Amino acid sequence: MEKKNVFQRIQDMEGQVDHLHNDLGDLKSLVKELLEENNRLALENERLRIILKREAQLKEEGDKSPIPHQHVVPEDVVGEGYDNLARLYHEGFHICNVYYGHLRTEGDCLFCLSFLNK
Ligand SMILES: [Zn+2]
Repeated sequence: MEKKNVFQRIQDMEGQVDHLHNDLGDLKSLVKELLEENNRLALENERLRIILKREAQLKEEGDKSPIPHQHVVPEDVVGEGYDNLARLYHEGFHICNVYYGHLRTEGDCLFCLSFLNK
């Protein structure tokens, strides 16, 4: 193999590696976006389930007694909300006001932790 030829091949490979690196970066940000969107949808789904459950309970109670009831959030729903947030944090998402719903890419977040410790 000619020396000149070898140099040209290395240069070609360098170009390919650069290209690959760019593709990898694009894929990485795409996956990050998808994970965040998936998380948003899961949260919304959970909220809707809670509302649906509450509505069904109220309807059931309403059917039993004609006395109008107050629209209160039961204690267990509040506890459930906290558990969901804690789980979310441990799955790697921010639950703080600052970066809510975004993927935690740099370990623990002080904003999230102070929120969890409230
Ligand atoms: Zn955070």
